[in-house]
Amino acid sequence: MAREIWKKILDIARKKISPAQFDTWLKPLNFIRIENDVVLVSTPNPLAREFVENEFKDLFEDIIKELQMKGLSISFVEGSPQDPSEELFLQQQKVEKPVPAVSVESSAISLNPNYTFDNFVPAHTNEFAYAACLAVSQDSPAKQYNPLYIHGGVGLGKTHLLQSVAHEFFKRSKKIRTIYLSAERFMNEMISSIGNKRQPEFREKYRKIDVLILDDVQFFKDKTATQEELFHTFNALHEDQKQIVISSDCNPSELQGIADRLKTRFAWGLIAEIQPPDLETKIAILHKKAEARGVSIPDGVASYIASRVASNIRELEGCLTKLIAFSNFKGRPINNELAHEALQNQFEATNRFLTVEAIQKLVAASYKLKVNDIKAKSNKAEIVLPRQIAMFLCKEVMGISLPEIGRKFGGKHHSTVLHSVRKIEERMSEDKAFQQHIQGFIRSLR
Ligand code: ADP
Ligand code: MG
Repeated sequence: MAREIWKKILDIARKKISPAQFDTWLKPLNFIRIENDVVLVSTPNPLAREFVENEFKDLFEDIIKELQMKGLSISFVEGSPQDPSEELFLQQQKVEKPVPAVSVESSAISLNPNYTFDNFVPAHTNEFAYAACLAVSQDSPAKQYNPLYIHGGVGLGKTHLLQSVAHEFFKRSKKIRTIYLSAERFMNEMISSIGNKRQPEFREKYRKIDVLILDDVQFFKDKTATQEELFHTFNALHEDQKQIVISSDCNPSELQGIADRLKTRFAWGLIAEIQPPDLETKIAILHKKAEARGVSIPDGVASYIASRVASNIRELEGCLTKLIAFSNFKGRPINNELAHEALQNQFEATNRFLTVEAIQKLVAASYKLKVNDIKAKSNKAEIVLPRQIAMFLCKEVMGISLPEIGRKFGGKHHSTVLHSVRKIEERMSEDKAFQQHIQGFIRSLR
């Protein structure tokens, strides 16, 4: 009965919009249930949810009126990875891409087919990590760096690189038993093995492989039992000269709630950091991602997006996805105007509560100055640096124009602002501690 109500709504919707619109946006929706007069429907991804909510809200309201079902409303939820549909997707993938016979099932099916070296854009911010991963995957396992430990902030490509290594091993030889998994999954498997009294099998599985690729080990924080298990797994593999690749959001020594003996082991081999991408890298990645989707985006559009998304590459991709969907939906080519229309709200939304004043206040306070000092015409060294930092942050985090920044800093010329931004960028590229100092500001502003 409930499902029929949804079917009826869809039938009417189909007649009111174009077939292309219907197929793209409404057909993929999945009815879940009706609860307290709310029709719950799931969308395949967050983008679809946003789009359907915005573009078809009125349509659905009209239909509900038409059906005289006042009081009924529709609510969209994103399908989560735990959805049965997602499982199915993974299974289908498995059928399409045969998994090497000896590899452990859970591993190959959890790989994203797009996370390969070919799809990765090397740049000076990630080239060390990239080269290390490539070297590990091209040599016989454990010849070069063991363990290989990759660290960096959220959305900077750690998972992409780790999975590229896994793909490479799968491709190279069926005989190399490779497992890629997240730390969380490792823990869940361990726990369920205890519940099912299959701990010996669990141990056997992870100690008898050639390559263990473990993503996001910071997740093991305070999970002592899992750390203990990993410790023994690590030792068994390392002793047998099996390759271990690990990722985390920080240096081994900075890991919190992780046993010292694990931290030291993580640091036994090679440690490589991925740094936040600079503007050029962001632009290059956008072009590459667009190309992979068979679209080309003008340079102006790429730099518009790149300058507004601070460093998270996942966010960068999200913008691209939205832009392409918007272009398809409106049937218009991708250009500056369209990009602005599609993304402006998003950029504003991320920074809605952020103001130039808030940035000035934050920086001034951290240097024990007053906001007015920062805006003053002084050229004292102790004021110049904080001012340059604040200007840089306005550009980087808020994405506002140079002349506007100049105005907000006591009427400075835009070339002065540009000079300041460049100074900070230069120093960040040379001085690691300074870079972290700035990133601290950026984090607290988001
Ligand atoms: P992390 O695991 O560090 O949080 P991910 O590996 O999930 O980050 O990367 C986030 C997104 O950014 C992914 O879609 C990934 O493909 C993309 N990405 C990151 N770095 C690059 C790069 N250098 N070239 C191409 N894509 C990248
Ligand atoms: Mg990751």
